[in-house]
Amino acid sequence: MAEPAVNVIQRLRVDAVRCDGVGICAHLAVELVRVDSWGYPIVSRQPLSARSLRQARAAVAACPRRALFLATD
Ligand code: SF4
Repeated sequence: MAEPAVNVIQRLRVDAVRCDGVGICAHLAVELVRVDSWGYPIVSRQPLSARSLRQARAAVAACPRRALFLATD
């Protein structure tokens, strides 16, 4: 018998210490990341939908500083 599905909420997060503000993430996750006037990302705190999770994963994979990550509630 299959186990019941567990609702897992994921959110995109940024480690501000690691981030160098290049902004690749904002281009790859346009619905989740915008940049401030210095080019540093401002990340949506909304739970990720299936669609936005794809964008988030692409941005995490492309981040040259490994500053982006997915957090699970
Ligand atoms: S891609 Fe990574 S290093 Fe570049 S702005 Fe986004 S979080 Fe920062």
